[in-house]
Amino acid sequence: MRMREFRSLVFFCLFTYGASVAMAQGPGPKAGGQPWMNRALDPDTRADLMIREMTLDEKIQLVHGTGWGVLRAGSPLAPGHNLGAGFVPGIPRLHLPDINLADSAVGIRLAALQSRYATLLPSVIGMAASWEPKAAYLYGSVIGRELRQQGYDMSIGGGVDLIREPRNGRNFEYVSEDPILSGIMAGELALGVQSNHVMGDIKHFVLNDQETGRNTLNAVLNSRALQETDMLAFQIAIGLSHPAGVMCSYNRINGDFGCENPYTLNQVLKHDWGFKGFVLSDWDGTHSTVKAALAGMDMEEPSGTYFGQPLKAAVLEGKVPRARLDDMVHRIVRSMFATGVVDDPPVRSVVDPFRGRDDAQAIEEKGIVLLQNTGNILPLVGEKARRVVIIGAHADEGVLSGGGSAQVDAPGGRPGGSEWGKPVYFPSSPLRYLKEQAGADAEFTYEDGENLVRSAKAAAAAQVAIVFVQQWMTEGQDAATLSLPDKQDALVEAIAKANPNTIVVLETGGAVTMPWAPRVKGIVEAWYPGIGGGQAIANVLIGKVSPSGKLPVTFPARDSDLPHPHVAGLTPVTKNNGMNEANANEIRQGKNFEVDYNVEGMMTGYRWFQAKDKAPLFPFGFGLSYTHFSYSKLKVDPEAKSVSFELRNEGDRAGDEISEVYITLPGAADEPFRKLGGWKRVTLAPGVSQTVEIPLDPLYLSIFSTQDGTWRRIAGEYVVEVGGSSADLPLRQSVQLTAR
Ligand code: BGC
Repeated sequence: MRMREFRSLVFFCLFTYGASVAMAQGPGPKAGGQPWMNRALDPDTRADLMIREMTLDEKIQLVHGTGWGVLRAGSPLAPGHNLGAGFVPGIPRLHLPDINLADSAVGIRLAALQSRYATLLPSVIGMAASWEPKAAYLYGSVIGRELRQQGYDMSIGGGVDLIREPRNGRNFEYVSEDPILSGIMAGELALGVQSNHVMGDIKHFVLNDQETGRNTLNAVLNSRALQETDMLAFQIAIGLSHPAGVMCSYNRINGDFGCENPYTLNQVLKHDWGFKGFVLSDWDGTHSTVKAALAGMDMEEPSGTYFGQPLKAAVLEGKVPRARLDDMVHRIVRSMFATGVVDDPPVRSVVDPFRGRDDAQAIEEKGIVLLQNTGNILPLVGEKARRVVIIGAHADEGVLSGGGSAQVDAPGGRPGGSEWGKPVYFPSSPLRYLKEQAGADAEFTYEDGENLVRSAKAAAAAQVAIVFVQQWMTEGQDAATLSLPDKQDALVEAIAKANPNTIVVLETGGAVTMPWAPRVKGIVEAWYPGIGGGQAIANVLIGKVSPSGKLPVTFPARDSDLPHPHVAGLTPVTKNNGMNEANANEIRQGKNFEVDYNVEGMMTGYRWFQAKDKAPLFPFGFGLSYTHFSYSKLKVDPEAKSVSFELRNEGDRAGDEISEVYITLPGAADEPFRKLGGWKRVTLAPGVSQTVEIPLDPLYLSIFSTQDGTWRRIAGEYVVEVGGSSADLPLRQSVQLTAR
């Protein structure tokens, strides 16, 4: 056989092998006579047609998972399990595929177990700092793309709990302290996931706003405030993306657990909002069979403790109507049809790490926030940046990531995967990229920051000192204070004393305090920067990228300014909630442990600071650029349907500005604060101005009436303000609106 023929044969074999694999895993059986395989029918009809053919046991099989699997030693692994966080076997005779669920808040978890690779994106809060819906969509589409390539058909990321408690361990997985910003960004993220024919999820419904005592605490909040804050974020995200799943939370909400709460699940989510997908429990967040089933929960995860045999018995005894079981199954199956996982199930392929890194870097570059730039210390260009020392946070090696179920395994990381409870760094070294970008005549050195005297000496010998500080956060554990851990405040003070040109780069889960802020020149918030973080940070520091992110959360000056000066229920024992057995008893006893969110009610984040007249360290919506912008000529539509104004780039380089619109409702609304009503991100060349128009959704001008459970606009004067941060709003105009 000649070489060419041999090659053709190899190609033929590979092709036919590939095609048969693709057919086995891929498009799935064609219609095969079953009416529900007709793609022309709508998902609800298709689901109904299939459910008619199901036995009771098959229905029960679909409404619960098969166990903890890889998450807990000794738990069985069903055939077809993809080694993610959850698995629900399909029904081959009906051509219903398995559901393989993967934690994927900031990238896919548990990849190492199978020597897979998953892109680590910047933290969700870091992406949210871009205020760019397109960035959120891209974020979700990276996750969806890689889930599909790894053989998963459902994401269980999509955290949108409001950042009400800035010390919450999971804030890095969440979006912001504002319901509208949170809802829109989380909705776009879920749309991006689902654009890959992977089922999306929004979690944890609702008020899972702190980790301390999360499995038992009772979150108390009046229904108007609940609707206008935490629930509004979910409402917007769900309305935008129609996710397959909504994960109910561990905590209680005004008495009932999140996964057996008739008000939040049946009344609001399903009835009022018309949610068509399914409610799945957080992992072991189910507490009952009949109560949960009747309250609106549709799928127990990860096991069948309540929705396995006990649910079958309850159905046979008539305690749970058959129609309710059919409704659960309908919601699951219709979501599988609607997202395309039946017609177009995942086909495994190799994740493209380079594409993932580029996407992660692009998102991070939009989300980095420049908080302080005294004397234009940044960007680091020319003679002022010939001798630079980088100090701390392993910036020579890489960047920090967040822990818990949002942990992504690092390339080259721990064999077998990341260890719960231990910080993981990703190999994207800011030092390396700074060196590369700065050129051969610049000298960049590194100090680990462990020894204050040595670090200060190195800082004194350099023109500029860049201190990297970090705050590792994780699921299951809140920070006791907003202070940076591990004496890093003292490190920054020592460096600032030794070198007047000190810049601090933060890699934090969310807001932290900075007692040293007046003594340093530059402050850059990089969040958990993701696998392209080293490049993104370097690009901003040297000015290749003009920073454009704005804070999606307030940075308070001190813990005592918060509505809850201490994290509710956090004691030295509960501190490690969920992390070890030693404190399990105390956590289990937490029946009467309440978190009273009525203290701030609707005044989450910036609203509290404004209403209480407290000056934050850095306000919500704030962020600097290497250029600057001016605002003029505000016009508000008489019905407040939109606002327009002129935005001008007054500097000498191109840049992006995020313009923000805030609304103050009439006094009768009893909302003594301005709230975000809309925003837009605009790119402008130097010296150029543009008319910017921002639509205002009537919902955001309305209040929730507890009398009849509807949203309405009240009559009176609405004040509209526009500017570049919640605390800098140069344009202002009022409109009189009638009741609606
Ligand atoms: C978390 C969820 C996660 C689940 C599965 C729970 O502890 O609260 O967010 O999806 O575990 O890992």
